[in-house]
Amino acid sequence: MAEQAINNKDSSVQEEWGQICSQLKLEFGETAFDSWLKPLSIGSFNNGVMNICVPTTFMKNWVITHYSERIHKIWEHKNPEIKQVNFVVQTMNSGDTSLLKKIVSTPTPQNLYASNYETAVNDYIIPENNGNMQLSAPLNPAYTFDTFVVGKTNEFAYAAARKVAESKSVSFNPLFLYSGVGLGKTHLMHAIAWHIRRQDPSRNVIYLSAEQFLYKFVKALRYKDTTAFKEQFRSVDVLMVDDVQFMSNKESTQEEFFYTFNSLIEEGRQIIISADKSPSDLEGIEARLKSRLNSGLVADIHPTDFDLRMGILKNKARQMGIELPEKVAEFLAQKITTNIRELEGSLRRIVAHSQLLSDREITLDMTQDVLKDMLRSIDRKTTIDEIQKKVAEYFNISVKELQSSRRARTVARPRQIAMYLAKQLTSRSLPEIGRKFDRDHTTVMHAVRKVEELVVEDSSLAENVDTLRRMLEN
Ligand code: ADP
Ligand code: MG
Repeated sequence: MAEQAINNKDSSVQEEWGQICSQLKLEFGETAFDSWLKPLSIGSFNNGVMNICVPTTFMKNWVITHYSERIHKIWEHKNPEIKQVNFVVQTMNSGDTSLLKKIVSTPTPQNLYASNYETAVNDYIIPENNGNMQLSAPLNPAYTFDTFVVGKTNEFAYAAARKVAESKSVSFNPLFLYSGVGLGKTHLMHAIAWHIRRQDPSRNVIYLSAEQFLYKFVKALRYKDTTAFKEQFRSVDVLMVDDVQFMSNKESTQEEFFYTFNSLIEEGRQIIISADKSPSDLEGIEARLKSRLNSGLVADIHPTDFDLRMGILKNKARQMGIELPEKVAEFLAQKITTNIRELEGSLRRIVAHSQLLSDREITLDMTQDVLKDMLRSIDRKTTIDEIQKKVAEYFNISVKELQSSRRARTVARPRQIAMYLAKQLTSRSLPEIGRKFDRDHTTVMHAVRKVEELVVEDSSLAENVDTLRRMLEN
């Protein structure tokens, strides 16, 4: 219970929880964090068992299936004393929830370093009220069209978003935005919402993540209140649902969504959807819903290019009021190519570092030093090409032979080992690995299984695999 919860000696546990929250927010995104993780609070900690309080049983089950493993992993990594993380249902009185808020929103060095101080603070800004607002999730004030940097990779999605925001009538319905993570879908959706609310405050614009839609729907079901749930959407002028891939394999939610979706479209209301894949590629989504999603305008945002990354860094530095040397910007834009969220995160880390150390100047040396760990892991990311090259060298054959259809043992075995290592050391899927070897995914699967068996039976082969792994990991 709360009384026996945390004593002074365990205040480090509180601090760790704050850091874990920052990390979870980065990994799962703000909307998922707000819906499922923000309501958690730390309870008691005894004999290596950490109890975390969850407000409802439904949430508990959800958190266990979706987040508990990750929470445990991060915590264990920070504090090896933690052996187990349990979730217990405990309704919090409003006072108790302040703990997490305080930890997340206070600018301690920890959350500055966790690189999301700014977003953490922004989260608590309540949007202006306009009628049905409790249905909508809060909008991030930083996500506007003004702060969105346009480049080759996102210009189409940007133009579509602007058109929808500025049109008085419905232009294409739905607008479907998709991209990999951290490339600006949520930013564009919030920008549309801000724009419309500013232009015409009487229009009812609702922004929700698919998880929040699901959560509200399930809550309505629990309280047998689905009519009220449906009513809420009646007066919506613009409905935005972010990250609809979360609805995959949830038939009843999809059905409810499909219903809401159709009736709004029929009434000429604008709908904007985002996902991590195109409608046709979404898995676990009913065919009729997919075809509906495909029926408007589909716009994708491509991975960033160097110019966009430079543009974003310069823009962000200007907003933060800092001087970012050209060399440092170029270095970051070259190295951090995964997504914009990480790019911004690394910039914030450098800025926080320079400010905490009494305005230490931002230089290339300092940047490399502050981002050491991150850069090391980027450099270490092994590619399938490298694996093929190293394995071929090691067994004295050519990469061509490795990729060929020759079945001679001297070539076939190294090929299987290379496939096995590709599966182990990269995050590539079986079909992706297969393509690199001109094979299909079943061949790769077979190779992985075969090598798994062989390393147990054949110690010299096991040694070869191990040496190769070490060579590739360095
Ligand atoms: P997604 O929803 O696609 O995962 P987000 O919209 O959350 O990505 O974007 C991740 C971060 O990158 C946000 O902080 C966002 O403001 C920023 N961002 C993305 N695209 C741009 C852009 N074109 N210009 C400026 N900032 C951007
Ligand atoms: Mg998003």
